[in-house]
Amino acid sequence: MSTIPENFETIRAQIKKAERMAGAGEGTTNLVAVTKTQSHENILAALSCGQRLFGENKVQEAQSHWQDLKMHYPDIALHLIGPLQTNKAAEAVALFDIIETLDRDKLATELSKEMKKQGRGLECYIQVNTGQEPQKAGIAAQDVGKFLTYATQDCGLTITGLMCIPPLEEPAALHFALLKKLAKANHLKNLSMGMSADFKKAIPLGATHVRIGTALFGQRPA
Ligand SMILES: *Cc1c(COP(=O)(O)O)cnc(C)c1O
Repeated sequence: MSTIPENFETIRAQIKKAERMAGAGEGTTNLVAVTKTQSHENILAALSCGQRLFGENKVQEAQSHWQDLKMHYPDIALHLIGPLQTNKAAEAVALFDIIETLDRDKLATELSKEMKKQGRGLECYIQVNTGQEPQKAGIAAQDVGKFLTYATQDCGLTITGLMCIPPLEEPAALHFALLKKLAKANHLKNLSMGMSADFKKAIPLGATHVRIGTALFGQRPA
């Protein structure tokens, strides 16, 4: 089994290669290291590899690792990539730097209130349910424009991107292409798409952020 430093080296090289093949500038794709369920030791190993951009999908789990680490490493940027309940909005605003999973009016309203209260203006991405899966969170593709207007004009949020999690059983590239089209139509610069299995497909389609867990840290415990 390869070590975490070896995995970082491999994935960084693969990202660079995909950027080159896509004719994208080097460094246009940001690696978000997804540390959900990882041990503190593994997180420290990632920090030793120079990684500073991380993704977590649960507020409480994220607090347990990152509250202290963020004080020691002020250049860490933490993305929330999992569903956010409105009753955790205050804690999420206090801890995270970017919320990637803005997915409904009520959450936009609540985040806006909390950001004003805490004097913290986090950037948000809109999660898009590109596969129209009933069990999955996210705004429907045809409603992105309307929701963006609500989030920015009515709530005063700063929306800078879109994110998606394609359906498992469909070619991811179709969903990445749709997300890119939606971002262009709505003048949003960030595209969070691509995970361990499909990030090489996301980069030629314009991913600015790939969210990678397994390929860096190994299989998560079930
Ligand atoms: C867990 C998770 C990832 C990372 O998935 P891997 O397949 O382990 O790379 C990316 N995005 C989201 C939203 C996740 O929950």
